[in-house]
Amino acid sequence: MKTIGLIGGMSWESSALYYRLINEEVKARLGGLHSAKCLMYSVDFDEVASFQSNGDWEGAGELLGNAAQALERAGADFILIGANTMHKVIASVEAKISIPVLHIADATANQIQQANLKKVGLLGTMYTMEQDFISSRLELHGITVIVPEKEEREMVHRIIYEELCRGAFKESSKDYYIHVMKKLIEDGAEGIVLGCTEIGLLVHADAIDIPLFDTAIIHAVESVKMALE
Ligand code: GLU
Repeated sequence: MKTIGLIGGMSWESSALYYRLINEEVKARLGGLHSAKCLMYSVDFDEVASFQSNGDWEGAGELLGNAAQALERAGADFILIGANTMHKVIASVEAKISIPVLHIADATANQIQQANLKKVGLLGTMYTMEQDFISSRLELHGITVIVPEKEEREMVHRIIYEELCRGAFKESSKDYYIHVMKKLIEDGAEGIVLGCTEIGLLVHADAIDIPLFDTAIIHAVESVKMALE
């Protein structure tokens, strides 16, 4: 079994989920007393969020690159960036290490293709919805990506930083997300990508009657496949 190196803490609410999912998947595949060989470098999310809001992506890339280097030195065989948004700086991370990074959007695109869907709605931070580091990667796999309108994007983003990343899961916010998803369905989405690793903690698969692609679950499960290859 390979050793998974997770850059976590973005936020730790979702890193805790990654850790549980990775171990559950190893147990499901190997049985018995098996558990994952896994290292986590958990950053201070306040530092990351400051880099993001100041537009200092170079600083953010440096921080994550250093974390990845530490994981490689500690024996990780490959890296997971446990957040969609920070895939914006994946090139800076890759430049600092000699082990691979498992891209969250490639794992997600595989699942969308297996479900035979062509058009999906994408929810995430403003960075993820408005820039193309996740959508263009999905589009490389032949998938069309649509996002909510500006006002809705702002609200979806606000809920992530002011609630989900602080461990607050409100019924009213869940209802709001479902409302936004329904509008994306009206615009032709056949599935919804939960392109922020905390959204699945608020909205579960049974919330809506089209497939939800929870990037945290998909990424964690895919990492176990890679670890056991
Ligand atoms: N975990 C979130 C994501 O998947 C948001 C936190 C961040 O900005 O890194 O994008």
